[in-house]
Amino acid sequence: MKPLYDGKAKTLFPGPDPNTVIVFFKDTVTAGDGVKRDAIPGKGALAAQISCKLFELLHNAVPSHYIKQRDERSFLAKRVQIIPLEVVVRNVAAGSIVKRLGLTRGQVFDPPLLELFYKSDALHDPLICEAHALALRLATPHELSQIKDYALQANAILKEYFLGVGLKLIDMKFEFGKTPDGEILLADEISPDTMRLWDARTNESLDKDVFREDKGDLLTVYREVARRMGIL
Ligand code: 5GP
Repeated sequence: MKPLYDGKAKTLFPGPDPNTVIVFFKDTVTAGDGVKRDAIPGKGALAAQISCKLFELLHNAVPSHYIKQRDERSFLAKRVQIIPLEVVVRNVAAGSIVKRLGLTRGQVFDPPLLELFYKSDALHDPLICEAHALALRLATPHELSQIKDYALQANAILKEYFLGVGLKLIDMKFEFGKTPDGEILLADEISPDTMRLWDARTNESLDKDVFREDKGDLLTVYREVARRMGIL
């Protein structure tokens, strides 16, 4: 089947009807704007299954593109046009914000901090403020307000869920899309590729930082997340 879009970690194929797509998870893992990359057999299946379970968990609270799991490496989703914004919600300081603002890794944000990045490979996804998002017409004021509400709501639900299985949700990146009739839906994936998860007791990373920072075996930590979520 000819893909509609071939990304770094996922491929989108046409779904059974024109309003749907199949989101297929690849075994590729990339970091640093795609400079560091590897293929880890089994990673796609784990990210897909974790993502499906988390979309199902959010189902009643946050409208999303997720329809149903198809097989162990793919799910069926509503077709949307992706809004070129990366919406990052941070509960604890880690990653880029630590360098950018000279913070201490592990510092808690209460309330959670929401940041917007402009999704542009050519510009390396720069941090932008709401005024930029509006000036660039990435979203209308109403859409932006919905996007922020949905991201904070999803973060609150996921944070509580993960704590229940011994994991701290440090931060995560959300993407949103728009249906042909203008509805805003949570889109993309929700997996340890797009979030930071630390063991609640030891603060050990159980996410893509293991690959980014060469801290161990990615498959082992993704399996551990899946196991705690009752998937394996
Ligand atoms: P940071 O800004 O600290 O690099 O990332 C914040 C959070 O968003 C992390 O959980 C990180 O995994 C996620 N994130 C930010 N940008 C990207 C991206 O381009 N791809 C992926 N997979 N995750 C991202």
